[in-house]
Amino acid sequence: MVTFEQLKLNAALLKSLDALNYTLPTPVQAQAIPLLLQGHDVAAQAETGSGKTAAFGLPLLQSINPGLQQVQALVVVPTRELAVQVRQELKQYARFIPNLKITAFYGGHSFRLEEDSLAHPPQVLVGTPGRLTDHLSRRTLDLTNVAQVVLDEADKLLEMGFEEELDDLLRAIPRKRQTILFSATMEEDVKELIANSLQDPRFVQASATAVPDRIVYYGLKVQDEQKPQALVRLLQSINPAGTVVFVNARLTTTEVAQHLQEHGFQARALHGKLEQSERDKTMTLFRNGTASILVATDLAARGLDMDVVQQIIHYELPQHQDAYQHRSGRTGRAGKSGTVYTLLSSRETQKLEQWPDVQVNEWLDLTELAADTSVPMEAPALTTLHISGGRKDKLSPRDIVGALIAEVGLKASEIGKIEIQDRHSFVAIPEEAASAAVRKLSAARIKGKRYKVSFVR
Ligand code: ADP
Ligand code: MG
Repeated sequence: MVTFEQLKLNAALLKSLDALNYTLPTPVQAQAIPLLLQGHDVAAQAETGSGKTAAFGLPLLQSINPGLQQVQALVVVPTRELAVQVRQELKQYARFIPNLKITAFYGGHSFRLEEDSLAHPPQVLVGTPGRLTDHLSRRTLDLTNVAQVVLDEADKLLEMGFEEELDDLLRAIPRKRQTILFSATMEEDVKELIANSLQDPRFVQASATAVPDRIVYYGLKVQDEQKPQALVRLLQSINPAGTVVFVNARLTTTEVAQHLQEHGFQARALHGKLEQSERDKTMTLFRNGTASILVATDLAARGLDMDVVQQIIHYELPQHQDAYQHRSGRTGRAGKSGTVYTLLSSRETQKLEQWPDVQVNEWLDLTELAADTSVPMEAPALTTLHISGGRKDKLSPRDIVGALIAEVGLKASEIGKIEIQDRHSFVAIPEEAASAAVRKLSAARIKGKRYKVSFVR
């Protein structure tokens, strides 16, 4: 494992990383930072949440001359939100570099204010292609001192049709420059952009297990026949919301889910043989918190990259290390911390010990878990309502919130997540209000129209 110090970042940057509690570089950072500091053009592919902003941002900030008040680095991003977010993040990294100005330009922002800010140009400018080319054509922006240009989320930039704007921008920047491209995917059009815009680029592809050091792995040694009881105890000792329990066989998903339901948990089984509509429903209930626990097979968990996953429990060890890592990677995504628990029989403990890339950070003692009663049990139960209208009926979350407040008397703070699909909507509300809500909403109009409202079971 390399450290940030070994990557040769300067003291000011190391200080801000320390303040941010970034202990180790992510894989894409470890690979890209040295190449960028050497001045190479770099094309990097790494999935969302792998720390790409710091991967280009840290070396970029290190090569800026704060004494020179000219735009020296340009970061092009596809959307306004990203412009704001990337600027914010770069500012955090630059906290201890004096006299460094970082600005964002984007559509919807006052053009005049942007123009005024160029009276004292920022050294680093983040912006969306449309707004940046606007400045170029009005001759308000001078890019002749730019020595570094970053195309962030290149796949998205192309998908959104910014090819011409990118051309115009790159043509306004001196050819003697460092060109850096980051992308979550590498389709043909991205490769073409690399071929046309980068010189002798170095390629970086970081592994799928992003920010692995932010996941904490706990092991629990239990005999096979103790596992159902151990799982219940474990769930009673933590906040179970957002838990995915992995098992190896389809039948086990329903067995375990049922066992958990009998112990008062909001658990649902998810396996590959469920009808698509049933799977969609289960996912909706998990996303909005009506179901706190999913008991799933590997197959069923494909594409389960949801923000709500707080912890993974391996109820059984899968056949191979790859599957174990893939399961574990469902949590701790997008740089959030995650927790992984593994229930291990002695046979499974031996197996795990032979997997070179897997480690257990801490072993837990089941009897001590059971003794801990200080942890609150499940949050107040939620029920999900189904409403027979959606996007195509021009229903918005606001309409549904409005109706629940006006017709049912709920407070805004009591209303959970709302999901609007084409022809249906789902909303999570407190269980005790559900019957009245179904009755009153069915009789009422939402945005002038009647809809069928029912429970999702
Ligand atoms: P990407 O652009 O690859 O989707 P981001 O650059 O937005 O990912 O980073 C995702 C999250 O991870 C951010 O919240 C960021 O602050 C955090 N992060 C980045 N690098 C590290 C690190 N080395 N250690 C801890 N957190 C990090
Ligand atoms: Mg990013």
